[in-house]
Amino acid sequence: MDAQVLIVGAGPVGLTLAIALGKLGVRCILIEQKDAPQFLPKMERCNARTMEIYRRLGIAKKVRAAGLPREAPMDVFIIMSLVEPPLLHLPFPSVAQAEAAIAKCKDISMPLEPYQLISQYTLEPLLKEVAESISCVDVRYACEFISCEQDAGGVRAKVRRAGTVEELSAAYLVGCDGGSSTVRRQLGIKLQGDANIMELRQALYRCDDLYERIPIGKGRHYHVADEHSTFLIVQDSTRHFTLHSVVDSDADMATMFERTVAMSVKYEMLYVGQWKQNLLLAESYGSGRIFLAGDAVHLMIPTGGLGMNSGVGDAIDLSWKLAATLQGWGGPSLLASYEIERRQIGERNVAASGHAARGRRTWRAAWRPNIRDDTPEGAATRANLTRIADVEQRKGNVMRGAELGYRYIGSPIIAEEPGGPAPDFKNYVPTTWPGARLPHLWLADGGAMQDRIGDGYTLLRLGKSPPDAEPLSRAFAAYGAPFAVLDVAEERVRDLYGYDLLLLRPDLHVAWRGNNPPGDPAVLARRVTGH
Ligand SMILES: Cc1cc2nc3c(=O)[nH]c(=O)nc-3n(C[C@H](O)[C@H](O)[C@H](O)COP(=O)(O)OP(=O)(O)OC[C@H]3O[C@@H](n4cnc5c(N)ncnc54)[C@H](O)[C@@H]3O)c2cc1C
Repeated sequence: MDAQVLIVGAGPVGLTLAIALGKLGVRCILIEQKDAPQFLPKMERCNARTMEIYRRLGIAKKVRAAGLPREAPMDVFIIMSLVEPPLLHLPFPSVAQAEAAIAKCKDISMPLEPYQLISQYTLEPLLKEVAESISCVDVRYACEFISCEQDAGGVRAKVRRAGTVEELSAAYLVGCDGGSSTVRRQLGIKLQGDANIMELRQALYRCDDLYERIPIGKGRHYHVADEHSTFLIVQDSTRHFTLHSVVDSDADMATMFERTVAMSVKYEMLYVGQWKQNLLLAESYGSGRIFLAGDAVHLMIPTGGLGMNSGVGDAIDLSWKLAATLQGWGGPSLLASYEIERRQIGERNVAASGHAARGRRTWRAAWRPNIRDDTPEGAATRANLTRIADVEQRKGNVMRGAELGYRYIGSPIIAEEPGGPAPDFKNYVPTTWPGARLPHLWLADGGAMQDRIGDGYTLLRLGKSPPDAEPLSRAFAAYGAPFAVLDVAEERVRDLYGYDLLLLRPDLHVAWRGNNPPGDPAVLARRVTGH
């Protein structure tokens, strides 16, 4: 075989998957049709969970160093223009402020890492460099996936490189090839939901002195209360900005920028393109030895910033399951659980982004032509829009439940407990309920619990007199599965997590919990390793 895993598409999801697989020693080839990463705007915010994942992959510091400066405010404004008093100002902590709050947190309510604003065109080259530095990862740009076929032994893909078609063989193939995924189409898998909800133009501008001169306060998003759904986004350099607007021509994007900025600034419009809002979910996340991840299976409206972040979650879920299967200790339910676990998250996040986008549309619907009038009627329009926006705009900015609180329900590799909190994408309710991500907490020595957890299964034994781990350890050894025991005697930790024993998976999700050793350790080990 040319590789153990062939990854199609070097967007942020394919690159993250390649890094995660590479760190687990899986030999992979990542192919990308473009000649090189492009300087095109798309996502700009890695959420807290993605940053926790990047920390585990050892790249969080690099991502922060390349992203928006840590002191920069993350505030969101609703404005008439950048020089008029804002209609609404929603403050959000800078990374430095969020890190300080996290450092002080004594409970399990906060993530280990805060969000980070980084433009996709900065993130992709960074991830590419990391992937290329891993010896078992072969990154090939200017290499287009054309087609593939699979049988019980593996997958063979036809790819085009420098005008010639060649064949690559691998045990598994993962299509991370975006919304119009060729891999997905090859498999005949359809997207379901609402397509082409709205079409906007997006332009990228370079404007060196604007950020420092914004008189109403520095932030990251400036939504203009107009009839064009216009919004301005500060990119990571603070010298680049994107503006989205519903207008008729590319040339109008210069007018909209000047109208929004409303100051005399020197700027260059570097790019204009069109994009469509979709709320779509694939009917399936793969077939046989071929899997799909990221935008190839879920397309969301960027409101709420769940698109790439959901894809990073897909990549991490799939990476350890592929590695386990290739290393021989993972049973068949492991890879089968990928779709069960991640499609429900895709479905929930598509719904969450729809909810956030409807919020945005609701306050925009309060726009009236008299909004700029210096009359009692104009003032009433502004007040009404602001009042509605104060509720509705927040829907896109408060997604902590979707970001940190997602829990896998009905998974064959989790020892389920009946009931459990209902999924809530707005609020984060920390829990060790099986299927949930282990909440972050600080240990007495100042270290983070998450940092102590290795790449295999971990049995956390909490409190002063933890139960015996030996039977479970032997049960995992019977499958050759990596298993470690981590003892934390602090009663505080036991109280916060609520149990004496927590069995964690490599991706930090809780597979089982209890106050006594499992009744039948062999049954538990068999289940969570997918046998
Ligand atoms: C305006 C805007 C703002 C956004 N903001 C956010 C945000 O703040 N946070 C967030 O999480 N998400 C955001 N998103 C969504 C985010 O950009 C996407 O979810 C993300 O790019 C998906 O990553 P991906 O790797 O799955 O797919 P893509 O980024 O689409 O990458 C797919 C890659 O596959 C390659 N490819 C395609 N076909 C082939 C082929 N046949 N052979 C080889 N290579 C192929 C493509 O060239 C591409 O490089 C935003 C999107 C938009 C449009």
